[in-house]
Amino acid sequence: MKVTPTSNSRISDIDFSNLQFGRIFSDHMLEMTYKDGTWSEPDIKPYGPITVEPSLHALHYGQAIFEGMKAYYAGPGTINLFRLDDHHERLNNSAKRLCMPELSSDNFIRGLEELIKLDHQWVPKTFGHALYLRPFMFASEHYIAAKASSEYKFFIITSPVAAYYSEGFNPVKLTTSEKFVRAVRGGTGEAKAAGNYAGSFLPARDARENGFTQVLWLDALEQKYVEEVGTMNIFFLIDDKLVTPKLAGTVLPGITRRSVTALAKEWGTDVEERRISIDEIFEAHNNGSLKEVFGAGTAAVISPVGLIHHKGETITLNQNEIGPFAKKMFDRLTGIQYGKTEDTFDWTHPV
Ligand code: PMP
Repeated sequence: MKVTPTSNSRISDIDFSNLQFGRIFSDHMLEMTYKDGTWSEPDIKPYGPITVEPSLHALHYGQAIFEGMKAYYAGPGTINLFRLDDHHERLNNSAKRLCMPELSSDNFIRGLEELIKLDHQWVPKTFGHALYLRPFMFASEHYIAAKASSEYKFFIITSPVAAYYSEGFNPVKLTTSEKFVRAVRGGTGEAKAAGNYAGSFLPARDARENGFTQVLWLDALEQKYVEEVGTMNIFFLIDDKLVTPKLAGTVLPGITRRSVTALAKEWGTDVEERRISIDEIFEAHNNGSLKEVFGAGTAAVISPVGLIHHKGETITLNQNEIGPFAKKMFDRLTGIQYGKTEDTFDWTHPV
């Protein structure tokens, strides 16, 4: 691994009390190149522009994938990475689906560790803040034939981010879309493919223009079963059971989803991973058995749902406040991530 530290750190220019998501990037980045069937060694160097030609394959066909994870400040000298192997595995699953080369865990994990050690001062120290990590891979051949590229670039860039809820929890308002779907069976929905996000921007904008925060995605075949929400997985507490849509090819296998499921089971809560229809949710609300609804993802950790709109009908949940189950889940998960509570699952990876 080659490491070239910057001679001109930008950290003193950064206002850590006023961070916006994804706008500021730390001093260094990691770069690897795939050519002639092999990956180069990781090259860690100052963050900066890259040169590409207009014929860059990824710009034409969207052969591009990414990951989203965080590094958490866990007291002097300790930065926690969270479920690193799971993120590595998901990155490789995305790569396989998009016909791209996999990365060895040695390069991914060692590279990330080195990058974070070098930029450790960029990990915000305030509880709830974190260094967002964005590994991504794209087709880098300068060639515009519609077939898989033979060359790829892999980068990791990092960005200090504030707590998602700086002023307390803000329950989200969801609407289903009658016109658009996120993923189809056999498609790329379970991969973190760049194009999945491009396709979601128009329905997300429509939802916002109608006063909702995010789209509650339904299945493409029958527009009947709930899949996920915006860029989060979704959970329903029905009576004392936690229900979440099962992973059947169209739902992104969230790392937070996996953690929520494991913690709920540890607490003795029954967890059902199954198909759940939007009608069942409205019915459960009407008969009083729907106790809480929340989204789960790396960015917000746990995001309470305050309202769901579907085909002209609206239900309001929990008086638009975070429910006790979601709150307990938020506290336990962030407790593990920030090293405040015992990590009985061995999920954290200190750097
Ligand atoms: N669904 C989608 C579509 C997402 O983009 C994300 C964010 N990666 C998630 C769910 C949640 O996944 P995770 O818990 O791994 O962040």
